[in-house]
Amino acid sequence: MFDIKTLVRANILAMKAYSSARDEFKGEASIFVDANENNLGSLAKDQSFNRYPDPYQHKVKTKLAPIKGVKPEQIFLGNGSDEAIDLLIRLVCKPGHDEVLAFGPTYGMYDVSANLNDVHLRQLRLDQDFQLQIASLQGQIHANTKIIFICSPNNPTGNLINAKSIEYILRNFDGLVVIDEAYIDFASEPSWTSRLAEFPNLVVLQTFSKAWGMAALRLGMAFASPEIISFLNKIKPPYNINEATQSLALEALDNANRLPEMVKEINQSRNKLMEDLPKLPVVKKVYPSDANFILVEVTDADKVYHYLLEKGIVIRNRTTQPGCHNCVRISVGTRAENEALLEALNAFSE
Ligand SMILES: *Cc1c(COP(=O)(O)O)cnc(C)c1O
Repeated sequence: MFDIKTLVRANILAMKAYSSARDEFKGEASIFVDANENNLGSLAKDQSFNRYPDPYQHKVKTKLAPIKGVKPEQIFLGNGSDEAIDLLIRLVCKPGHDEVLAFGPTYGMYDVSANLNDVHLRQLRLDQDFQLQIASLQGQIHANTKIIFICSPNNPTGNLINAKSIEYILRNFDGLVVIDEAYIDFASEPSWTSRLAEFPNLVVLQTFSKAWGMAALRLGMAFASPEIISFLNKIKPPYNINEATQSLALEALDNANRLPEMVKEINQSRNKLMEDLPKLPVVKKVYPSDANFILVEVTDADKVYHYLLEKGIVIRNRTTQPGCHNCVRISVGTRAENEALLEALNAFSE
């Protein structure tokens, strides 16, 4: 039986969490003189920011839970999902001792957060189709392997990772399995949040930065068992989600019915780009995508990158990533931006 307490670092189990003024008193009152705030008010005109925000973001979680089909106690909110990645590593990995696994090419923050915490990231390779082969795990999991990160749809390749491989890992690995679903709203398969009850070692990451169109707010989500979530709450900075972000997130959640429309438009544009790009002489291969970006192999990624830059168009050059020689990653833009990009690429000659 999986027990998160056997994974959590001993010092974290033993430590006492910071107790904020807002933790110690939660009821109704009319005079708050407990947190050294400025009770005269703040400089903001239409909204007051003089009070510390809710450390556990109850209102946001209450609105978010039914949209995601989970209970509020299964939600952790972070300053971007990048904060959740960092806290998960810190929760279970002993610096200078433990390891985490990821499958490359993939998102760079697993490696950065691991390094920052003096934790080794063992980067295994996805196969030629950027799929996860269980055989690649052979001999790679040790007693000090605490987390396996799986990015699905994967960045920068755009594909969903085979559900059967993920399920095998969930059933056979007794550390945390973190599935990063930053792009799941664009995908043709359901989120792994629907299977949280089956897998006590599962953590699903999502974000407001991509489909929700609110990268500047810095709001990420982690979904897991209430027990894992309460450990993340124990170690997070007390007021990690500021009041402006919480109130704008509530507004966005009230307009959640706009999300499918926007996703539909972006996916249509993506599908059109996937049809049009292969017709260009500079394009050698267009990889399938379940995300709002496309990995494209071109004749010479460095040249294409600099050529587009001169025309004021910025793409991401991924040629140095494993298995991505001469590949660039292109985010789906507005219809007009996609047209301009296609036109520029069509005019490219070496
Ligand atoms: C963009 C992205 C994120 C988002 O991170 P935030 O900190 O929430 O903005 C997370 N994971 C992957 C794979 C991404 O591409």
